[in-house]
Amino acid sequence: MPFDGFDAEISLGEGATPLIAAPASLKAYCSVESLSLKNETANPTWSFKDRGTLTCIAMSKAMNEDLAATVSTGNMGHSLAAYGAKAGMQVLVFVPEYTPAEKIAAMAIHGAEIFRVRTKDYAGMKKAVLALAEKQGLRVVSGNGPFRVEGYKLTAFEIFEQTRGRLPDYIAVPTSACGHIRGLFKGFVELQKAGLIGDLPKMIVVQAENCSPIVTAFRQKKREIIPFYKGYTVAEAISGGDPPGGNEILDKAYRFAWLAETVSEEEILASQAALARSGYFVEAAAATGSGAVKKLCAAGSIMPSDKVLLMLTGTGLKDAGTLKRHSLNVREITPQALEAEMRKIIYNAGERSGETIY
Ligand SMILES: *Cc1c(COP(=O)(O)O)cnc(C)c1O
Repeated sequence: MPFDGFDAEISLGEGATPLIAAPASLKAYCSVESLSLKNETANPTWSFKDRGTLTCIAMSKAMNEDLAATVSTGNMGHSLAAYGAKAGMQVLVFVPEYTPAEKIAAMAIHGAEIFRVRTKDYAGMKKAVLALAEKQGLRVVSGNGPFRVEGYKLTAFEIFEQTRGRLPDYIAVPTSACGHIRGLFKGFVELQKAGLIGDLPKMIVVQAENCSPIVTAFRQKKREIIPFYKGYTVAEAISGGDPPGGNEILDKAYRFAWLAETVSEEEILASQAALARSGYFVEAAAATGSGAVKKLCAAGSIMPSDKVLLMLTGTGLKDAGTLKRHSLNVREITPQALEAEMRKIIYNAGERSGETIY
């Protein structure tokens, strides 16, 4: 790590998240026999961002800063607000107007100063905020900052420990600012340099079709990303349309023979439902990996026998708006009607299992 000392006081208990075999229903959905999940929703603010926020705050402390600022669609702002609160730092967050109310409320309760900028053009807004901040000497923590990436690389070490070195062939990473995928890969490269692993796992760059600056460029074999302005997607956490770290990831994708795939809005919602039906309620951005793997298998780019890991990057409950786009089975009922309805359900369950219910 890039620090001499480390004040454990700033930790909120991030990391050490479960790595579990996917349930059969999800394996069938993706058409992969060996599928596992890294459940980053088990972090303190329910996204992987906490790992990088820990190292960012550690660095801010080392530099005697008392103000931390970020531009975020939600999760990073929430994470920074929480860690800032614990570290006793003032936190400033700039969000676009489409950031879910739940994420804004979460930042606010931690005491952050929030600016909800009235625009849907997140890439443009980010540029404008960064230019203003630079003029005034304010350092704005980015999703792809070098200290953040050091925090993310620990995930690779964790995966190495949890698989006892039997690493997956592919890791699907929903990608926006590129910090996560960069940090993960850096971790594996460091393990390889230390002689602890042989082959590097291949990353799968996953983006929403509506906002896919890296994957679109990859398909066209371009060396530079193709910016998406106003690239609205239900997967709001991956709506960075012009990521400064994008060209580096594009370059790595060519050099290390990675895969890249997009998912449509419908495919994202279907994947979110498939994950939820398998027991994992993740946000739309976090569900994109399963949709991408399903498509890559259908196309023959991934073999059914390949070992695949999905990064479940963030929780579903921080974006209730997206839930309105699913058909959720809730019945309104009076107390008087309960008994008859209950009997019907129990009778039908008995019919299915062939049991006789009296
Ligand atoms: C931030 C985020 C991503 C994208 O990570 P980057 O480091 O910006 O590429 C993916 N999923 C969720 C839930 C996120 O919060």
